[in-house]
Amino acid sequence: MKQFEQSELLKRLPKQFFASLVAKVQEVIASGTDVINLGQGNPDQPTPPHIVESLQQAALNPVNHRYSPFQGFAYFKQATAEFYNREYGVTINPETEVAILFGGKAGLVEIPQCLLNPGDLVLVPDPGYPDYWSGIELAGAKMEWMALKEENGFLPDYRELSDLALEKAKLMFLNYPNNPTGAIATEEFFAETVALAKRHDLCVVHDFAYGAIGFDGKKPISFLQADGAKDIGIEIYTLSKTYNMAGWRVGFAVGNPSVIAAINLLQDHLYVSLFGAVQEAAVTALLSSQECVHEVTALYESRRNAFIHALREIGWKVNAPAGSFFAWLKIPDGYTSEQFADLLLEKSGVAVAPGIGFGSYGEGYVRVGLLTDECRLLEAAERIKGLNIF
Ligand code: PMP
Repeated sequence: MKQFEQSELLKRLPKQFFASLVAKVQEVIASGTDVINLGQGNPDQPTPPHIVESLQQAALNPVNHRYSPFQGFAYFKQATAEFYNREYGVTINPETEVAILFGGKAGLVEIPQCLLNPGDLVLVPDPGYPDYWSGIELAGAKMEWMALKEENGFLPDYRELSDLALEKAKLMFLNYPNNPTGAIATEEFFAETVALAKRHDLCVVHDFAYGAIGFDGKKPISFLQADGAKDIGIEIYTLSKTYNMAGWRVGFAVGNPSVIAAINLLQDHLYVSLFGAVQEAAVTALLSSQECVHEVTALYESRRNAFIHALREIGWKVNAPAGSFFAWLKIPDGYTSEQFADLLLEKSGVAVAPGIGFGSYGEGYVRVGLLTDECRLLEAAERIKGLNIF
């Protein structure tokens, strides 16, 4: 069979670090080990029934069997505006300030292609979500890392950026509640970000994937709540985590109209919009009772409390995340994050994600997803205790 050569563009794409982790885990499972897989970020709870029923009803409607309008149904955009107003007191113009997305990932990967030319510079959090890198590479752009350090609450310290980087950069990615560190942002930090973006002509993209998941009674803030945020940026919201709809592929971007227009233009060339029944179900999710959101957040909080407590009991000094469904755990001296993750997988059948996969400042940590029931999380702690390293 002839092997067609891949384009230079595909060859340039960053290596998917976590693909090799998945392969390692599969190998250990195949050898007969009961692996507790805390390495991934896939919500384990089902989509609430009222949202599934809404999809079922909408699937029967022939209107949804035809192509949907290119940039999505107006009623969905209207619902996103109502959602932002209700949850964050932010006013959104549904006609000019919303772009519908096939999940947050699609928007995050598209944005560099919408705004950048080859060689342009992007400020990226380190550690950070690897999909930002993919979009940047597809646009032929370059990255400048912003270190997220524990002593700064995992917020970037903008004073550490060089004048040259600030002068050259056109785009910045941020993400709070943060994957992988579990940190949340403050109003002061977002205000400082808007000021920096105005001074240096930056477009800020705030990835709000974990927007619903804040602990200890703290509701995570939207970047668009900061004064002037819409002048310089957008926020990407996804229904994947808030409503356990990761498989449905639905999200949206809100904010600066010129960025929204650029996303819509690119998408006009790539796709027709989402299945109409998914759009109807998304509206049900956004506008009906939010009890299911409170329940899932409480579930993650209770898992966090149980797991962190159990780790501290076995002598592992760890900090509790403030939001997201990840715990970011400092590993003992003497291991790289990859060596430590391998040790946990091979000797105790517990899979975690090595911090280095999220960037060089992720070294020294592993990421745990709180995405299995409390019993399994406690069993994971018990198995780690058996290694006698703490
Ligand atoms: N941003 C972050 C930080 C994420 O962790 C994820 C999901 N893993 C996404 C965006 C994308 O989510 P989705 O494409 O399902 O909306």
